[in-house]
Amino acid sequence: MERVNWIWMNGEIVEWDKAVIHVMSPSLHYCVSVFEGIRAYWNGSKWLIFRLKDHIKRLYYSAKVYRLKIKYEMNNLINAIIEVIRKNNVESHIYIRPIIFRSLIDRKPSLRKSIEAPASIAIAIRTVKSILEDKEEFEKPRRYMISSWRRPSPNSLPMYVKCSANYANSALAMIEARESGFDGAIMLDHKGYISESTGANLFMIKNEKLITPPLSASILPGITRDTIIKLASDLNLEVVEKDICRAELYSADEVFICGTMAEVTPITQVDGIIYNDGKPGPITRKIAEYYYEVVMNKVPKYSDWITIVEKGS
Ligand code: PMP
Repeated sequence: MERVNWIWMNGEIVEWDKAVIHVMSPSLHYCVSVFEGIRAYWNGSKWLIFRLKDHIKRLYYSAKVYRLKIKYEMNNLINAIIEVIRKNNVESHIYIRPIIFRSLIDRKPSLRKSIEAPASIAIAIRTVKSILEDKEEFEKPRRYMISSWRRPSPNSLPMYVKCSANYANSALAMIEARESGFDGAIMLDHKGYISESTGANLFMIKNEKLITPPLSASILPGITRDTIIKLASDLNLEVVEKDICRAELYSADEVFICGTMAEVTPITQVDGIIYNDGKPGPITRKIAEYYYEVVMNKVPKYSDWITIVEKGS
């Protein structure tokens, strides 16, 4: 796999090893950092960034909630992302990680003092694979459990924004799942309904209908979730956003999770309940195939979602 050597940091492209922060940084101690996960698909000659503007909008919204002061316009960050992709020049699918965090002021990781300071910003990328191009990976059994860790209530932590703090909850659920012999976890919300996985939204399919928890179920409003809701209508599939109780999830015909990293990943078992004889179901397959066509810019009506990055000179 090709190496990524360059990171954009506070307005400059720096070498990978130089993109470091101090151990006393408030964001390391108190998790006040917000970030995005964005994918660029390599089509053999260009990178196709999927829904870049929507990711950047969510990033600015997350920063607003935590009062992180970004000294760049959205367009500047978009250009910085393009610059870092071109500079690294890796001919591969890419995962792009912009992160905005509190800067260290006066040698103290102080929550109070760091509020006013301009936030620090970094944009790193790494090469990634796509499950949509890897039949073996797609077909693999995936056994999930309902975690005993709940997603925090919306009045405890805004799970609606992509803040690092939220991922301490995901980390605990992941630890429990792995230590219990499962591949991953699904969490319930504060009311006891299905919320989402540790880093992806969830859909269940029942009687050819897609059912997904509502935004009020302590989920991150996923851009992939939104994409799938739109694509479902092209496939004449009805989508219902509603609270799902645990037993209803058990009654599904198919279950999948979705996200920028997860793309469309079939879940073949939850708590030992097996779906579709342990194979990805037909509707999951149909959605995954269509999603892949869209991200590879093969569906003209969605070409507005794609930012094409040509190789630099
Ligand atoms: N939920 C969580 C907790 C996530 O971390 C992610 C990944 N960003 C998602 C859902 C899916 O969001 P998106 O489709 O925007 O990547």
